[in-house]
Amino acid sequence: MQYLKDIFYLFFPYICVNCKLTLLQNEKHLCTYCVNDLPIIDDNPHTNVTLLSTFNNKVPVKNVRSFLYYQKHGITQKIIHELKYKNQPSIGNLMGAWFGHRLKESNIFSDVDFIVPVPLHKEKLKKRGYNQLTTFGTSLGNILQIEYKPEVLIRTSISNTQTLKERFDRFSNQKTTFRLSDTSIFKNKHILLIDDVITTGATLLACCKELLQTPNITISIATISFTEKT
Ligand SMILES: [Zn+2]
Repeated sequence: MQYLKDIFYLFFPYICVNCKLTLLQNEKHLCTYCVNDLPIIDDNPHTNVTLLSTFNNKVPVKNVRSFLYYQKHGITQKIIHELKYKNQPSIGNLMGAWFGHRLKESNIFSDVDFIVPVPLHKEKLKKRGYNQLTTFGTSLGNILQIEYKPEVLIRTSISNTQTLKERFDRFSNQKTTFRLSDTSIFKNKHILLIDDVITTGATLLACCKELLQTPNITISIATISFTEKT
């Protein structure tokens, strides 16, 4: 088998997501140079306070952590792009495991009961074939030993039976498109809501508002990356 693998590798070498250098066989997605260049921010106290206040001005959130700083044309953008649009869900495993080990060490989410992903719209799921958060969330869960629970928070699609006016109102009011299939499962539980990027925080905020329908729920947030509003 190894022989076949070597032959395959000779003709189809894997390349680094960021710098396009041919990867060595023990490297995955990123070369060692780029790994050392990753803009890791989860231990930056200033970022952590900024992130928390983004949400706490609007909803009660216990803790927020982002793994990488996201800049236009930067390494993080390339990683996220690969994960979302290039059929590379396994890059989510790499991010989840790495981030997970760091979070485990910091002990910050040691009392979390469930990891919940921001749900993907059905149409998008069909088109992409996978939710980019599944690999990230499950490997994060494996490291932190927290159950990954993707089926409770759902994204509702607009029904075909609505009139045009109703549809218009829905958009103009920017009503949340998230629903809980059950408001008792997360009762008295601490939920870690996950997403790929925090930009304005609007999507995560809408999810938090829906999750807060559950009595005595505690919410924390973890994302692969964070970018400042421009
Ligand atoms: Zn590289």
